[in-house]
Amino acid sequence: MQTIEEKKAYDDVVKKTCLVTNTAYLAAHIFYLIFFLITQTYVLVYVNIGSIIIYASFYLLIKFKRYLFFKDGCGIEIMAYMICATILCGFGPGFHLCIIGLCIIAFYAAYFSKSNRSNKKAVIWTIMSMFIYIGLYFVCDNITPYYQLDHWAVVFLFVAHAFIVFMFICIYLRTFTNYATKLEDRIKRESRTDNLTQIPNRYGLYDYLNVLENKENYVLAIFDIDDFKKINDKYGHICGDYVLKELARITKLNIGDSFISRYGGEEFITILKKEDNMFDKIDLIRKQVEDHDFIFENINIDVTITTGASDYINDIKNDEWINMADSKLYEGKNSGKNKTVM
Ligand code: GH3
Ligand code: MG
Ligand code: MG
Repeated sequence: MQTIEEKKAYDDVVKKTCLVTNTAYLAAHIFYLIFFLITQTYVLVYVNIGSIIIYASFYLLIKFKRYLFFKDGCGIEIMAYMICATILCGFGPGFHLCIIGLCIIAFYAAYFSKSNRSNKKAVIWTIMSMFIYIGLYFVCDNITPYYQLDHWAVVFLFVAHAFIVFMFICIYLRTFTNYATKLEDRIKRESRTDNLTQIPNRYGLYDYLNVLENKENYVLAIFDIDDFKKINDKYGHICGDYVLKELARITKLNIGDSFISRYGGEEFITILKKEDNMFDKIDLIRKQVEDHDFIFENINIDVTITTGASDYINDIKNDEWINMADSKLYEGKNSGKNKTVM
């Protein structure tokens, strides 16, 4: 589900894109108007006055967030304009090239509208554009254009159209890929973070283990809160959540740069660099938890953990490494809890 901020950020991207697009179309038609006045192509002068009025009024559609109407309106206007201009001036000036840009916009809009219907519409639009594109070629091949533009004007318009279309495709695809990449990064980050404790979750742990080199220099320690169910039963689930958060917070502070993750409900896994007094170092985490004041609504809650730790041996798989530490944890639980077994 989208948060209010996400929806706002998303709306902002859509609105900004529509505003930039509309302004660019308006500017293009003002340019055409001047150009056709100079070249005395009067029918197209009137057509452009019509287009300018249309785009000026489209700002209202954007203001009232009628983005789909805006997109369809632009599509219809551009298509009609390009057909009209191509029939009047011929294939040479390259008005038809703009039809290619339209297909990109149709898919872009479909992505942002997140509707399957829009996606289908974009496909239909693209196929229709292809037929119009090819059709225009044959029409121009068989009729003499109403206006015979000077050679310089034909060349100028062709270069301008090619430039504009490629630049448009570039801007649209760049905006889209930027947005999609950022979104992907965020989703990946969130999917690897535990919502409650804000430390990596099980997927984050596997990501870490998968890229960890020289594992024989590390020890994997798994710790589990003792009688956590009783804490939940006695003080409530919210208190249980507080204990989990507080435990993650203090352990993170105590282990410095080392990796810590929430492996499951009330089980955490940390990966520690091997040192001479490894057992003491791991047992220190347990002692720090035992000594910490977990205060919830003015009640001091006794929290202890049992830890199982294991070296990495014989190129074992990540799961096997975890299982080895887990069986040590099991030993600790069965022999009285609140202890470290290695
Ligand atoms: P042991 O000492 O043997 O580990 O006993 P335990 O009670 O800690 O273990 P048990 O597996 O019986 O119970 C774990 C409890 O942890 C059960 C479950 O409701 C609770 N739990 C799991 N995830 C959460 C959570 O996110 N928040 C809270 N408040 N409780 C959780
Ligand atoms: Mg437990
Ligand atoms: Mg457990």
